[in-house]
Formats: sequence, structure tokens, C-alpha cells
Amino acid sequence: MSKQSLHTILLIEDDPGDAALIREMLEQQGCRARVVTVERLSAGISHLQQHCCDVILLDMNLPDSSGLSTMTRLLDAEPGVPIIVLTGLSDEGFGVEAVKLGAQDYLVKSDIDGRVLKRAMFYAVERKKLELALKQTRDLFERQARIDYLTGIYNRLMFNELLEAELQRARRYGSDLALIMFDLDHFKQVNDTYSHTMGDHVLKEVAQLVSENIRAHDIFTRWGGEEFTVLIPKSNRDQALILAEKLRQLCEEHDFGDGLKVTASFGVTQLRTDETVELFIGRADQALYRAKSNGRNRVEAL
Ligand code: GH3
Ligand code: MG
Ligand code: MG
Ligand code: MG
Repeated sequence: MSKQSLHTILLIEDDPGDAALIREMLEQQGCRARVVTVERLSAGISHLQQHCCDVILLDMNLPDSSGLSTMTRLLDAEPGVPIIVLTGLSDEGFGVEAVKLGAQDYLVKSDIDGRVLKRAMFYAVERKKLELALKQTRDLFERQARIDYLTGIYNRLMFNELLEAELQRARRYGSDLALIMFDLDHFKQVNDTYSHTMGDHVLKEVAQLVSENIRAHDIFTRWGGEEFTVLIPKSNRDQALILAEKLRQLCEEHDFGDGLKVTASFGVTQLRTDETVELFIGRADQALYRAKSNGRNRVEAL
């Protein structure tokens, strides 16, 4: 193991004899890393909260914790550091379980020698790096799958998931649920007259303007193209109408740059008892259509 790759090892071991043995093995292997030894899980966790550490060697039976929960508690407290579990010969099965729950490896104390330990630590560090990189990529993909790339607000996939949850809540508690659907007016002209880049800028500004003027639990989505929705829990049609009117005015009054003005048309509705999602959304869409036919830059409710 190169000196660069390992600076600090945290050894959580309450048996002084076992701890001394491990330190000795590391020394014999020429390991220059600092070994910090603590006897309790709580001491290990508080050490990790204040200090960096490259790898943890963990005895699972400690004065303040025993069995697999020792490993899971440590992992919860410090998910970024690789853990190698040290077991006795009689509880090797715990080692396997610990790996299934997120430890990088386990070593049976009576079988450990310096070379085995050194190699286990090397692989644990490398595997953990891969695991974290993979998690980052997965988180990014998950975010990208639910967030609209241009505006940073929810996309339709996320809307569908959240709508389902809100519908269930509204039905269970008999609470109101309202929906605003709006579409920018003559947006094609913005693209054609200015540029597609300017069009993108307008979409981002609209998203920001609306985000800043709704409540935290309102669900704001880019429905597609230049069409957006705001799902409003615990609100009825009249309350949603007031919000839609406010948003319409904000949009109308906003300067999108170079004196560019953009308006939007709004459709508003509220969930009716025992109706399907399709009917609920369809009615908001119908109201929006009516706002367009009645002259645009207006709000209609159904
Ligand atoms: P209306 O008032 O009837 O809604 O007219 P409109 O021109 O807004 O409607 P139309 O559906 O004809 O055009 C929508 C335009 O929105 C066309 C499309 O190019 C543009 N658009 C959709 N998505 C984007 C985008 O991500 N960026 C930009 N710049 N334009 C987009
Ligand atoms: Mg012990
Ligand atoms: Mg439009
Ligand atoms: Mg449209």
C-alpha cells in the first residue's frame, strides 16, 4: 500500500490484545498510516465527525454496541468511509451479513495476517471510491430524469409521481386540490422574432418568476414546451384563481430583457370527488383552451 493512499486508519476495537496485534501487523507491513484506536462505537463516531479517515477496522462487539447494528450505525453516521469488519471465528456469518449491509469486507481475527489486512484495506478503499462514484452518477441520472434540464423545475415524470401522492392525500383527508395550467402566448413569435436562445431565456425567467411567487408545497412543473402546471394542495378553485391571476399579472408586467414582453393564458380547476386524473387534468386544459380562445393573457376557470 502506498504511503499516499492511506493516511489514517480508525481501529474500533475494545480488546487491547487484538488492537495491539493489528497495530503490530500494520507496522510489520511498513504501513505508515496513523492508526487511531478507540474502544467504543460512540468514540469512533465522534472521532469521524471531526477527523478524516481512510478506512475503518471495526470489531462489532463493543461495550456500547454489539452485532450487526454496530456496523449499520457506523455506516449511517459516516457513509463515505470504507468499513472492514473484524469478526471472531464463531461469528463469521455476521461478517457476511455486514458486507451485504454495506461493509466493504470482513476478516476473521484469527485468520488475519499483515498481508491479508493490507490487501483488504487496499481493495476496501478502491471499492468504496467506485461505490461513491457510482452513487453520484445514479443520483445525477435520477435527478435528470425528474428535473427539467432548461428551467430546473420538475418535469412531467416527477409531476405524475407527485400528483398521484397528492390525489391520494386529497381523497383520504377530503382536502381540496387545485390545478393551474398555463401556456405562453404567441411564443413561436418570440423564437422567430428574437432567437431560440431568447426563447429559452424567457422560459427560464418565467420558471423563476413563478417559483418565487408560489408556496413551498405547491408543485410547479414544466409540462412540455412553453406549457406549465402548478398543482396546489389544500386549495380550491377560487383560491387557485387568485394565484393564477397574480401569476398572469407578474408575467405581463415583467421585462424579459430588451423591452421584450410576454404574456400567458391560464386554465384553473379543482379536483372533483371520485374523478380520474385524466378528467382533472383535461378540465384544466379545457379552461386554458378557453382562455386562449377568449383573447389570451387571461385566466379561465372550470
Ligand atoms: P399560442 O398563443 O396559441 O400558445 O401560440 P404559441 O406560438 O405559443 O403556440 P405554438 O404551440 O404554435 O408554439 C409553441 C412554441 O414553443 C413552438 C416551439 O418552438 C416553442 N418551444 C417549445 N419548447 C421550447 C424550448 O425549449 N425553447 C424554445 N426557445 N422554444 C420552445
Ligand atoms: Mg470486542
Ligand atoms: Mg403558447
Ligand atoms: Mg403550447
